[in-house]
Amino acid sequence: MNAIRHDFRSDTVTKPSAGMRAAMAAAEVGDDVFGDDPTVNLLEQRMAGMLGKDAALFVPSGTMSNLLALMSHCGRGDEFIAGQDAHCYKYEAGGAAVLGSIQPQPIAHQADGTMALGDIEAAIKSGDNHFATTRVIALENTFGGRVLPVDYMTAVADVAARHGLGLHLDGARAFNACVALDLDIKDFVAPFDTVSICLSKGLGAPVGSVLVGRQDLIEMARRHRKMLGGGLRQSGILAAAGLHALEHNVSRLAEDHRRAKALAEGLARHAALRVTMPDTNILWVDMAADLGERFTAYLGEHGVGVTGRYGQQRWVTHLDVDEADVTQALALVDRFFAG
Ligand SMILES: *Cc1c(COP(=O)(O)O)cnc(C)c1O
Repeated sequence: MNAIRHDFRSDTVTKPSAGMRAAMAAAEVGDDVFGDDPTVNLLEQRMAGMLGKDAALFVPSGTMSNLLALMSHCGRGDEFIAGQDAHCYKYEAGGAAVLGSIQPQPIAHQADGTMALGDIEAAIKSGDNHFATTRVIALENTFGGRVLPVDYMTAVADVAARHGLGLHLDGARAFNACVALDLDIKDFVAPFDTVSICLSKGLGAPVGSVLVGRQDLIEMARRHRKMLGGGLRQSGILAAAGLHALEHNVSRLAEDHRRAKALAEGLARHAALRVTMPDTNILWVDMAADLGERFTAYLGEHGVGVTGRYGQQRWVTHLDVDEADVTQALALVDRFFAG
C-alpha cells in the first residue's frame, strides 16, 4: 500500500494541532497520583460539570475507562449486560472477564442497533445460586456511528432502576451524538451512573478518555486505575490537550458529519454500493465481497485509507480530513467505477 494521503480509517488518526501542542507545552503539572496535577484536576472538574455528574477520572484509554466502570459496578462473579457488538464486550480483549472476573451477558442487537427491552429484562438474573449476579447494563451511543434514540436510553434506565442495577454509557463518541441531536450532553447522559468519553477520537487529543459519574463509583475507579497501572504522574501535559479539545473541537464535529454525508452521497451514485446514510462521522458501505476487496485495494494504492473487509467498508471523517480530501477521494471512486 502506498502512503495514505486521505485517511478515512478512523477518527483516532488525528494529530494534535499546533494550538493543542502549545497548550500541552504550557500546561502546569504536578504528580497526579498525589492529586497534585492542576491541569488534570481542571479537566476532571470541567468534564464532571459539563456532564452534570459528581466526579470524573482521567484515564489513558477508552478501554481502561470502560473496564474501570465495570469493575466499579461489579465484584468478582458478578455480571454485566451489553450488546453482542458492544465495544466493552467484543473489542476489549475480554478485559472485564480476565481482569475483573466479571461475566458478560451479551444481548443480540435489533436492526436499529438497540437491544430489545424484553431481551434485556429476560437476561437479568435473580438471586438464585446458579447465577452470576447481574449488576449493571452497559449501553453504547453513538453505536457504530449511529445515534440511538434518547427515549431508548431512558427506557433501559427504567428497566435498570426496576431491578436495582447500575447503568453505564460507553459514550466514546457521545459528543458526536449530542452535536447531531443538538442536545446538551448533560441531558444526553442524565440517566447514567457512569459515562466514558474519548478525547482521542473526533475531539482530536493524542491520548485519553474520561470516566464521569457518581462519586462512590469514581472513587472506586480511581483505586482500580492504580491497580491496573493507569495512575499517571505529570499527566497534565495530556489533560491540557483534552481541555483544548473540549474548548475548540466539540461544535466543529458538525463539519465531520457534513463531510460523512457528502461522502455518502458521492458513493451512493454508484449502483454497486449500498450506502447507509450516516448520522454522524462514520459511514458504512456494503458491496459484493470480491468487489470490496478490489475497491479497498484500489483506494489504498491511490492513497485513500478506509477499513474494509467481507464486502463492507467503513469511512470515518475527522479533524484531519477536509473538503478537498472528500472531493479527491470521490474523484478516485468515480475513476474506479468508470474504469
Ligand atoms: C474507541 C472506542 C473505545 C475504546 O477506546 P480506546 O481509547 O481505543 O481504548 C471504547 N468504546 C467505543 C465505542 C470506541 O469507539
